[in-house]
Amino acid sequence: MSREVAFACDLDGRIGWCCSRAAARLGAREGMHLRELAAPGTAGKVDALVARARQQSVDDWELGLVSGDAIVTYSFRALPHEGGLVLVGAHVPSAYGRAFAQVSEHIHEISELHRQAVRDQDELTRRAVELSRTNAELADSNRGVMALYVQLDEQAKTLRRNADTKTRLVGNISHEFRTPLNSILGLTRLLLDHTDGTLTEEQERQIRFIRNSADSLSQLVNDMLDLSRAEHGAGGLRIARFRLEDLFSALRGTLRPIATNPDVELVFDAVDGSLELETDESRLAQILRNLVSNALKFTERGHVRVSAATRDGEIVFEVEDTGIGIPRDEQERIFEEFAQVDGPLQRKHRGTGLGLCIARRLAELLGGDIRVESEVGRGSTFRVLIPSVHEEARAMHQLEERSRDIDPMRAPILVVEDDRKSLFLYEKYLAGSGFQVLPARTIDEARAQLRRVRPAAVVLDVMLDGETSWQFLADMKSHEETRDIPILVVTVTNREQHARALGADEFWLKPLDKSALLRKLSQLARRGPVQKILIIDDDEVARYVLRRHLADTHHDVLEARSGHEGVTLARTSLPDLIFLDFVLPDIPAFDVLDELKHDARTRHIPVIVHTGKSLDDEERKRLEAEAAAILHKQNLSRELAIGRIREALLNAGVRPSVGVERQ
Ligand code: ADP
Repeated sequence: MSREVAFACDLDGRIGWCCSRAAARLGAREGMHLRELAAPGTAGKVDALVARARQQSVDDWELGLVSGDAIVTYSFRALPHEGGLVLVGAHVPSAYGRAFAQVSEHIHEISELHRQAVRDQDELTRRAVELSRTNAELADSNRGVMALYVQLDEQAKTLRRNADTKTRLVGNISHEFRTPLNSILGLTRLLLDHTDGTLTEEQERQIRFIRNSADSLSQLVNDMLDLSRAEHGAGGLRIARFRLEDLFSALRGTLRPIATNPDVELVFDAVDGSLELETDESRLAQILRNLVSNALKFTERGHVRVSAATRDGEIVFEVEDTGIGIPRDEQERIFEEFAQVDGPLQRKHRGTGLGLCIARRLAELLGGDIRVESEVGRGSTFRVLIPSVHEEARAMHQLEERSRDIDPMRAPILVVEDDRKSLFLYEKYLAGSGFQVLPARTIDEARAQLRRVRPAAVVLDVMLDGETSWQFLADMKSHEETRDIPILVVTVTNREQHARALGADEFWLKPLDKSALLRKLSQLARRGPVQKILIIDDDEVARYVLRRHLADTHHDVLEARSGHEGVTLARTSLPDLIFLDFVLPDIPAFDVLDELKHDARTRHIPVIVHTGKSLDDEERKRLEAEAAAILHKQNLSRELAIGRIREALLNAGVRPSVGVERQ
């Protein structure tokens, strides 16, 4: 419903025409002035509208007009028209005012909220600034830490360099000293032997001094060389198995000649003839020689006794003497470089002060330690404790032990590498992967492993003088059975052409990188021969599930939907293994087994019975006798499927070549 009022009036505002609503509501009549309709006191507003409308059209001009007893607000639009004015006023409901008040209240709230939001925004900005400052500070301290780390690393490198330089220097100097020292010793010997005529007594005395000094200097040089070798484990350890008894008899032989004092007895206690050690024999002998020669030097009467006893995988050697003893406060110091105890007997037997230091370092190299117990005037007991089997050898045994059991879940990788540490590294790299290391430290060992297992791949470390390794590679690649086993050749020098010419599938320079090695082995292992697996099952879903489990393994999967189809397919495609559903639509699974067993072509194929039905005792017994394994559909997992396949293939004498990558 329209609520407008309309007027036509002259340029002064006198009404010439008005609509019926204006007449009815406002009492407007022709001839009245608009001013007469205005609410009391607002005539001026009417005049102003009239005056403005004479010039131009006016919008939204509000006027309060009298309607009966009330004042009604109209919003006027006015414009000049044909020499007069036309005015149209739209009624502004009084609720408008309330709404307006509400709106303005809302606007007020909104603007308050806005102000709050702005304040919050400011706070957030402030915090962001603070945070970025903290971040910057953190980055700074991080940079500081990094710089410190780099500095430390640099220092460590320098220290290592210095230590290396020291070793080289000591080595070089010692060698440089040796030549002139040997000349001096040789010449003094000539003089003392009177080869070129006699010497006066005084000359002879002087030359003896020279010889003694040259002797002790030469001892010092030898000790320094020993120490630098012991400190850096130079030359590596030569770990081998030997009998304790043999070590003792060799020591007896070398030490007897220096036990010249008739008042001191050198005793070697009897040892268990079957006792064996596996460590570096020559270094152990050097330690014991050192201790025994000290004991002989510092014992004037009584005995020096050497004994050995085993205890919890350790062997304890004791060198006990009845000599002068060592004061308590010197007992640790004597193991330091050039440390000596002062006393008349010590002065008489002045050595280099390096012997015990070397002995302790050597004992540490062997994974053990030396301790002393001593009482002045009563004697000393030096104890050497070392593991009967050196840690490296033990780890190697464990590795061999682990590789003895072929893990059905992992693809065997034959690693031919003479260095134990590198073998451990391979094992560490492949731990937790789908590969199992079969270690071989010699080519003979590698050949023995090959007789036992067919590896998914071979890693062949060719040492510098690796003629036998090259030969091994050539042999592997020229024999029918081993030709298709992929071989990765690893060397320290670039012999790629040679390796490739002999048939290597891949060539790598050391050092090895773990992830690259794993990637490469996965690629290589996949190249081996593929095994065919036949699934006989009418249930499409069961076939699908099994196929998915075998998806990224090394198998070709064939499928048959019934017992008859399965038997036919087995005869024509000769799979390496069959998965047989226990409940088939056409014939009982036992008939399938019978048919397979009665055919020479399929007799040897291992069958894994795959069942969703729980078996009764009789069925189970029969299946256990006739099938390679029984798998229940409800708990079939990828691991289980692959594990059973590998076991079944191994038992059937087929060497599994499955390369499975663990996710
Ligand atoms: P040195 O070449 O002087 O013998 P070592 O390092 O072998 O050097 O020994 C350090 C010192 O420890 C010796 O000088 C000696 O004073 C003391 N010492 C070593 N063994 C014994 C011992 N069995 N009895 C008494 N003192 C010993």
